[in-house]
Amino acid sequence: MYDVVIAGGGPAGSSAASYLRLKNRRVLLLERERFPRFHLGESLLPFGIDLFRELGVFEEIDRRYIHKPGARFLHEESGASFTFYFDRAIDPGRPYAYQVPRADFDKLLLDNSGRLGAEVRQETTVRKVIRHTDRVEVVARGSDGTEYAVEASMFVDATGRDALLATELGLKVPDGGITTNVACFTHFENALRQEGSDEGNFTGILFDGGWWWFIPFKGNITSVGVVFEKEYTMARRGKTPQELFEGAVAEQREIKKILAHATRVRPIDTTGNWSYRSKCFHGDRYLIVGDAAAFIDPLFSTGVLMAMAGGKFAAEAIDTALTAGDFRSDRFADYQERCLAGADLFKKLVHEFYGEDLRRLLIHSGDNPTMVSIIVSLLAGDVYKKAVWQSAVSAGFSQFADLSRVPGQRRVRTIRQNKDAAK
Ligand SMILES: Cc1cc2nc3c(=O)[nH]c(=O)nc-3n(C[C@H](O)[C@H](O)[C@H](O)COP(=O)(O)OP(=O)(O)OC[C@H]3O[C@@H](n4cnc5c(N)ncnc54)[C@H](O)[C@@H]3O)c2cc1C
Repeated sequence: MYDVVIAGGGPAGSSAASYLRLKNRRVLLLERERFPRFHLGESLLPFGIDLFRELGVFEEIDRRYIHKPGARFLHEESGASFTFYFDRAIDPGRPYAYQVPRADFDKLLLDNSGRLGAEVRQETTVRKVIRHTDRVEVVARGSDGTEYAVEASMFVDATGRDALLATELGLKVPDGGITTNVACFTHFENALRQEGSDEGNFTGILFDGGWWWFIPFKGNITSVGVVFEKEYTMARRGKTPQELFEGAVAEQREIKKILAHATRVRPIDTTGNWSYRSKCFHGDRYLIVGDAAAFIDPLFSTGVLMAMAGGKFAAEAIDTALTAGDFRSDRFADYQERCLAGADLFKKLVHEFYGEDLRRLLIHSGDNPTMVSIIVSLLAGDVYKKAVWQSAVSAGFSQFADLSRVPGQRRVRTIRQNKDAAK
C-alpha cells in the first residue's frame, strides 16, 4: 500500500512525486513510455527557477541548457518587432529562463524523483482507477503486457493531454475563446539565430493566419513550429502537415530568412485541439495535475511552469490530507484555487491576444514602460503570488494604451479580427 500512486512522469507527475518524497511520503509513479522521449513544450519561464532550486536540480539545469533572456515577437507582414526582456519584470530577480529539449529535461526531472526515493516504473500504463471508500485501486499494464493492481490512499492523474480521469468522468470543457486549432512542428539544424546574449531568446512570429515559434537549444538545433488559425487550415483542407508547414514557409519572408541555410532533422509532426479545462481538479481520493487538468494555448510557453507548480500544490494538499487521514474531495478545493490563480492570468493573456488587442500591443508596446513591465511579469510566470498589478491585468490591457493610436492596427489583426472589422 502506497501513500500515493501517480500516473504520468512528465513535469507534473515527476514534480508531484519529488515534492511528496521531500515530505517523506511513499510514492509509486507509473509512466507509459520509456524516457527519454520526445515532447513539445521546450521554452521555459523564469519563475520555474524557484521550483528547480526546491527540487535540487537548479545547478544541473543551469549547466545543461541555454539561457533565455527574453521573448521577441515579430510581425511578418510589417517586419516590426519587440523583445520583452525578463530583467524588466516588476520582480526582476530572475532575468532568464531556459530552452530545453524535453526528452532530456523530462528525464532529468524523472530521474530526480527516483533519486529522492520515489518508485518509478516506466513502460507501464494506467488502465483503470477504482475508488473505494478506504483506498484507491489502480490497475496498470506493464511492459510485458501483464495487468496488475496497486493500492494507495490517493491517486494523482498527471497523464498530460490524455487526461485520463477528466475524459472518463466527462469533465473536459473546450475553451471557445481560442481561434487556432493545429500546430505543425519539427527541429532544424543551423537555423539563423540572434547574436550574443540574445541567442537564447524565444522568437514568436505573428502572421495573418497564425504564429511561429523558434526555440534555440544549446548547440545548433532549433525547435520550429507553426500554430494555425482555424480559417487558415480550413482554406487548405486536405493538405498534409508537411504541405501546410512548407507552404507557410514558402509564403513568408521572415521565416525564409531564418531557415535559408537550415536543414530539417526531424519529421514534421502535428497536434491539435488543445485548449480545455477540467470542470473540477479533484474528487474523493484523487487530484488532477498539469495538462490533465487544463491546457492553455501554448503561445506564452506557460505549460511546464503550470505543470510543475501544480505538482507542488498537489503534493502539499495530499501531505496535509495524509496527516489528517481525510481524503474527501472538499478538502482539495484550495488546491484547485491555487492552480487557477495562475492559470486564469495566463488565460486572460491568451484571450486578449486572440480576441482583443494584445496582438498588436505585443509588437508596439515599447513606448509604455508600465505595460511592458506587466507583460514581462506575466511572460516570466510571476502568477502564483498575489500582486497589485495582477488586478490590472484582469481588467484588460486596453486601459494601458489608447489602442486607436497603436500603429499597424489592421495588419496585426488575425484573419477573424479583420473579417469582424469588415462587417
Ligand atoms: C504546440 C505546443 C507547444 C507547446 N509549447 C510549450 C512551451 O514552449 N513551453 C511550455 O512550458 N509548454 C509548452 N507546451 C505545453 C507543454 O507541452 C505541457 O504543458 C507540459 O508538457 C505538461 O506537462 P504534464 O506533465 O502535465 O504532461 P506531459 O508532459 O504530457 O506528461 C504526461 C505523461 O503521462 C504519460 N501518460 C499518459 N497516459 C498515461 C497512462 N495512462 N499511464 C501512464 N502514463 C501515462 C505520458 O507518456 C507522458 O509522459 C506546448 C504544448 C503544445 C501542444
